[in-house]
Amino acid sequence: MRTLRINLDAIVHNLDVMRARASQAKVMGVVKANAYGHGAVEVARTLERAGVDYLGVADVQEALALREAGIAAPILAWLHDPSDDFVAALSNNVDLGIANIEQLGHIAKAAALTGEVAKLHLKIDTGLGRNGSTAAEWSDLLDAVKSLGDAVEVIGIFSHLSTTSRQDDLAQIEKFDAAVAEAKRAGVSFQLRHLTASDGSLAYPDAHYEMVRIGVALYGLDPFSTNKAAEYGLVPAMTAVSRVAQVKTVPAGHGVSYNFLHRTTAETNLALVPVGYAEGLPRGATGKAEVSIGGKRYPILSQIAMDQFVLDVGQDPIQVGDEVIIFGDAATGVPSADDLAAAAGTINYEIVTRMGGRFQREYFGAGQ
Ligand SMILES: *Cc1c(COP(=O)(O)O)cnc(C)c1O
Repeated sequence: MRTLRINLDAIVHNLDVMRARASQAKVMGVVKANAYGHGAVEVARTLERAGVDYLGVADVQEALALREAGIAAPILAWLHDPSDDFVAALSNNVDLGIANIEQLGHIAKAAALTGEVAKLHLKIDTGLGRNGSTAAEWSDLLDAVKSLGDAVEVIGIFSHLSTTSRQDDLAQIEKFDAAVAEAKRAGVSFQLRHLTASDGSLAYPDAHYEMVRIGVALYGLDPFSTNKAAEYGLVPAMTAVSRVAQVKTVPAGHGVSYNFLHRTTAETNLALVPVGYAEGLPRGATGKAEVSIGGKRYPILSQIAMDQFVLDVGQDPIQVGDEVIIFGDAATGVPSADDLAAAAGTINYEIVTRMGGRFQREYFGAGQ
């Protein structure tokens, strides 16, 4: 009664689109946060079969879940808590991002315990002000890495753009190049520089370095949430669908759902859809979002509740069991994740990533 249809062919297609744009650079498929709500294991398996070079996740637990599912591709995890199981990470061949000397210490200990060489990607904060080493601490971090000798191998040096403005991004690119040059001068060798995510990879083709880290574009979404996915050749992979659970005729002047944000103006039919904010449908989209039934758009005028919302469908011949598309591929005429994001005052990333609750994921395509 509530389904997230995940089109794995679209994900393979989007990988190819981004790979073609990245030309020589390797592509990391970012599958953190349950692959932005699409299902981490299924997406990672699909990307691995399609020959992705790397997988990216935020934390070690996410990486270990992929290893447990039999994913063998290189995986990088970059957001750590001191209590993370770095022993398990190293035993399972998970590359680790390094943001500071303290983290390096924990990981060096795990390397000594396991006898494994820790594969590191050193993260420099070039201006975003989030995870990563400050420029001031960078040379100490490089020295600390060097002092560990063969216990560690630096695979990559990376950073992340703010995409606040072109000027801000170019300043970050300059700082990144400076940090890389400093690593070289310090005698720290590495294989991969990686900086851009989906947005930066589309906006700055000269800043792809040896690898790009692609998340939202793999899921067929415009990283700028401006409904331009199709212009980039991307195909949205998630369609959120439900079915009408009840239809009833009510008189004029009938209040509908909490707070009576909608009141009927004539005798009409109400169609109940069993999807609510528990499923990730933002309550704040009430009055602004639209859904599609049989190719026709209906606004959600009444308050979205935990389990359900109600549509005023007038005299249209809507029946119990009719399919309701909450969002999907705009090219098919239905509302997009970008549309729902605009209605809720957020970005498409948040819409797809928070889809869950009682939705079931159904996979099709890519050899499924
Ligand atoms: C999430 C994330 C990405 C992927 O970002 P998209 O905008 O979804 O492509 C890349 N790099 C880092 C460090 C991230 O946290």
